[in-house]
Amino acid sequence: MKILFLDQSGKPGGAELCLIDIAKPYRDRALVGLFADGPFKTLLQQHHIPVEVFATEAIAVRKQSNLLQALASLGQLAPLLAKVVQTAKEYDVIYANTQKALVIGALASFLARRPLVYHLHDILSREHFSQTNLRIAVTLANRFASLVIANSQASQIAFVQAGGRAELTEIVYNGFEVKNYQTSESDISHLQQQLGLQGKFVVGHFSRLAPWKGQHILIAALAQCPPEVTVILVGDALFGEQDYVQQLHQQVAAMGLENRVKFLGFRTDIPQLMAACDLVAHTSTSPEPFGRVIVEAMLCGRPVVAAKAGGAMELVENEINGFLVTPGESQELAQVINTCLQQTEITATIASNARAIASQRFDVTVINQQIANLLTHLFKY
Ligand code: UDP
Repeated sequence: MKILFLDQSGKPGGAELCLIDIAKPYRDRALVGLFADGPFKTLLQQHHIPVEVFATEAIAVRKQSNLLQALASLGQLAPLLAKVVQTAKEYDVIYANTQKALVIGALASFLARRPLVYHLHDILSREHFSQTNLRIAVTLANRFASLVIANSQASQIAFVQAGGRAELTEIVYNGFEVKNYQTSESDISHLQQQLGLQGKFVVGHFSRLAPWKGQHILIAALAQCPPEVTVILVGDALFGEQDYVQQLHQQVAAMGLENRVKFLGFRTDIPQLMAACDLVAHTSTSPEPFGRVIVEAMLCGRPVVAAKAGGAMELVENEINGFLVTPGESQELAQVINTCLQQTEITATIASNARAIASQRFDVTVINQQIANLLTHLFKY
């Protein structure tokens, strides 16, 4: 089966990292078409996945755009659409991995007469999207998609609540290459030394810097923890959230935490960095569609505390394979950090449970087989 994958982003967010794993088994007969140039293209190339940048100018529509702004971008979309239609004729199926990819993919599917699969990595709610964008996404998916793969039950439910046809949907979680999450003790201590983390209780946060990812909640919690607790913030402002980055630095300075918070920027050595942590914190203030970092922490054998909403609730059972706290509540988060600091044995058992469960549940081979089965089924009709 020849697949044309479409993704709007040149930057590697969670949806893009997931796409690498999905596209890999098809790399000798697939193409990833991007709507923007950037480091995601390089990552795909490193994985030997054919990639082409279809548009060099980023599309002006944003998650919160209104109808007028959406219509204004039509002129920009026409050449991109023509390119996708022409390319799609050489493939059996169009696989849209993001919202703007859905818009172009849906029209291309109609014009090139190719079936459309939409991989939904978002919670389609007003918290994340404008009414216009929601309506466009749901209408196009309902009308043109043969299959909507939701990355969690939370994403699936939001799609249906927004008017999406339930019968189109299947839930498939993200898959992970389990062996990539094993790090040797010597690599861990080398990294800890490099980053000046020896003797500290390290809480890691791995996410792009964006207000709803809630890095500020972790900083507020840190102020309520003993001095040996240190935070590493791994990730960058991928989508222009520079004001938030400034706010975070100001918050750290105002709380006198400069020596206890390290901003490491975007990194590609996530498994090693997670292994160098004592606890991984996920602090999203809005429901997370899936939460790759939660699973990654589990696979690294590190305890994880997550904000109790959205997909995170499908991944974590409180005090069984991790901890859940109320989103936005820094005091509750501080309590969990302090518990992990003190009760190391119970915490280690929870982390080890989590690793065992996650290694089975999110094994990329199993997940890719689920997708392959769905795609094969699609072609039976
Ligand atoms: N990530 C990364 N480098 C960083 C920060 C994050 O590679 O510096 C990865 C992280 O390991 C995870 C992904 O980015 O695989 C983020 O996915 P998640 O589902 O947590 O959030 P999203 O970006 O999709 O909102």
